Amino acid sequence: MAGQVRDYWRNFIGGEWVDAADGRSIPIVDPASGEVISEVACGGAADIDRAVAAAHRAFESRVLLQMTPAERGELMFGIAKQLDGLADEIAEVEVHDNGKTRPNGYKEVALTQRYLRYYGGMADKLEGRQIPLGDGVVDYTVHMPFGISAQIVPWNGPLPVGARSIACALITGNTVVLKSPEDSPLSLFLFAEACERAGVPKGALSIVCGYGAEAGAALVSHREVDHIVFTGSVETGKSVLRAAAERVIPCVMELGGKSAGIVYRDADLDRTARNVARGIFHHSGQICSAASRVLVHRSIHDVLVEKLRIEAGARSVGPGIEGCDMGPVISEKQLARIEALCRAGVQEGAKLACGGRRLDRPGYFMPPTIFTGVAPRMRIANDEFFGPVLVVIPFDTPEDAIRIANGTDYGLAAGVFTDDLRLAHWTADRLIAGQVYVNDWWVGGVETPFGGAKRSGYGREKGQEALLGYVQTKNVGIRL
Ligand code: NAD
Repeated sequence: MAGQVRDYWRNFIGGEWVDAADGRSIPIVDPASGEVISEVACGGAADIDRAVAAAHRAFESRVLLQMTPAERGELMFGIAKQLDGLADEIAEVEVHDNGKTRPNGYKEVALTQRYLRYYGGMADKLEGRQIPLGDGVVDYTVHMPFGISAQIVPWNGPLPVGARSIACALITGNTVVLKSPEDSPLSLFLFAEACERAGVPKGALSIVCGYGAEAGAALVSHREVDHIVFTGSVETGKSVLRAAAERVIPCVMELGGKSAGIVYRDADLDRTARNVARGIFHHSGQICSAASRVLVHRSIHDVLVEKLRIEAGARSVGPGIEGCDMGPVISEKQLARIEALCRAGVQEGAKLACGGRRLDRPGYFMPPTIFTGVAPRMRIANDEFFGPVLVVIPFDTPEDAIRIANGTDYGLAAGVFTDDLRLAHWTADRLIAGQVYVNDWWVGGVETPFGGAKRSGYGREKGQEALLGYVQTKNVGIRL
């Protein structure tokens, strides 16, 4: 037992805490030490079947739809309140299960509560339209839930990423089966405890941990599932979409990114370096919208690189329990992938300004890494590291910068650093990305729509737009 992490966790299916149908479990490894610290029931197709059956019964009973929208909103407020009492344990779990720093563990709880309160407040504000058709006819639209929403989340931020989709689904009257990530499932089980205590109806939410190829694949191809929300990699996303296509199921797809920050020559370079460094090194770069490429005007290239190197060097890397700035990456597999991509960069001729190799200590630690001399065609300029690795690419004209920024398969986020408002607008207008930040990274939050263009996916999470991905429009026409 590490800290306060429990030894064993059951799945939450149909309002009950249950072992896997076949009795298997998955070991939970602390990425800061590489040691097994706990175990979780390993759900498979039979467990998914049971969860979907419970979700089906709950949907058919109309238990959520019999509540008023305001009551469904109150339910979200109740879950948020229950999380207060679980915050210490969640933060502890995030440190050991996920490699987060303790302050980040607490921030994830606060962010989750924000999502619950934001969507709780929206529950009674999703309105239809009345459409004028002339004398003798009344016509109006209503938003119908899809039914059972299958949700799959990745390991980097399972709690807030899971909670925001669950909240959108429940307030619109859908029931949910969520497959939690096998590498870091624990915080979502504590979320399930909060839901249970807050009185979420039995079966309206099940949370099942299992391997992607088993439990994940069984869930997205289940015949009773009506809607899919997938957050993860492009490759897995494609297989989820193939399963969805078989049954013509609507999907919200939140996939990866290779987001570029464009730094023009008039930018405040201290501020820019601070924001870009935060954008790429926060949670060791394991954020889909990380600032993983910086495109810098050639005239200020060397000055900015030096400032970024200083920012990188100022970060302490180590276990979250030791109060370090940057924790480990999630697993040996992920660390090996990041290192292999770094080696490919060196082989292609890029130069390491710092980092590039794992730390020589137990656990999966990658130091802040910066590549210079990067050409847009190189693998490291196109492939997602999902780690603390920044590539710096020089440009000469704004047109050049746009071409390079838009030149990858991804289109999740982008940034612009300049004091010239016209240039900022000109650039934001031409960037193909779901979010654009000016003079900062991650401007926005729970309220601002988030999602991808191109291979970064489609549909939106966060903000009011997200709700429209959880409902379908029904038109009712009445001849009087
Ligand atoms: P992944 O695609 O390997 O796994 C994501 C989830 O899918 C996991 O729960 C996994 O078990 C499940 N899965 C795996 N195979 C499956 C299958 N055949 N059928 C159904 N489910 C399956 O991704 P990851 O490595 O866990 O996460 C990193 C990726 O997620 C990165 O590409 C990152 O950019 C992306 N991501 C995107 C966002 C976003 O909002 N756009 C947020 C976080 C992470």
